[in-house]
Amino acid sequence: MTGNKSFFKTLVMEEGGCVTFGDGSKKRVVGKGTISVPRLHSVSNAIYVNGLKANLVSISHLSNEGYSILFSKNDCSILKPDEQTLLKGMRSSDNCYCLEARIVLNNASMDEQIELWHERFSHMNFRDLGILGKFNCVCGLPKLRKKANCVCGPCQQGKQTKSMHKKGKYLSIKEPLELLHMDLMGPMQTESLGGKRYIFVCVDDFSRFIWTYFLREKSETFDKFKMLCNKIQNEMNSNIKSIKRIRSDHGREFENAVFESYCNSLGIFHEFSAPRTPQQNRVVERKNRVL
Ligand SMILES: [Zn+2]
Repeated sequence: MTGNKSFFKTLVMEEGGCVTFGDGSKKRVVGKGTISVPRLHSVSNAIYVNGLKANLVSISHLSNEGYSILFSKNDCSILKPDEQTLLKGMRSSDNCYCLEARIVLNNASMDEQIELWHERFSHMNFRDLGILGKFNCVCGLPKLRKKANCVCGPCQQGKQTKSMHKKGKYLSIKEPLELLHMDLMGPMQTESLGGKRYIFVCVDDFSRFIWTYFLREKSETFDKFKMLCNKIQNEMNSNIKSIKRIRSDHGREFENAVFESYCNSLGIFHEFSAPRTPQQNRVVERKNRVL
């Protein structure tokens, strides 16, 4: 059942009673038909429920159609009567099994193939995919034809950023350690094996060398910074080089009395980017994206 009318290839509007959900709420069934969505096997006897937010698949309905469904701890598969996989689903963090709108390759038409291979190659751009196919760079990769308006939704969502600021004519950096950019990334959705959820990232403007430290709490930032300073000063002692300037955002982990007094004692000039303007801290923010 779905609440999206555009999914239907054929739809007969008819009153079909109500559907009651787990929380007791009721929604009216307003039609019945066949769903046909690109890259998803067509589903007959689908019902159109007014105002339904999620698309739900009935297990008993699939069984009646002759499909078998296999559930395991991490995923589920819907198998055709000849044991071929029709659809696969992954278990989500809130214990639902979510079907993915993808089908096995031998069912894909030419137009759908380029999207499938785009996903298989970690969302590689369509032009390069075409080149891979054209010059037979990959065994088994068919010659892909580019669609006119090929837009990948996840790519658009994942790669959107704010436009960059104009490059300023700021002082050019002449040697390592003259300017360090730093930032704290996190909290991450998944913590590391050691229970760490934050990453302290520090980038040298001149060499673009990166130091990264994993932290359990934001409050550990200062200790890590102090440790990094000591290490750098020790390493560079023979050349009498030291950190001159650091740049960070206004995060509380960077803008506090302890941090300030430590910087003052070492003679480090601490610059801040303007509030809510990560573009000004672009060097380290861009590194975060790579990491
Ligand atoms: Zn993509």
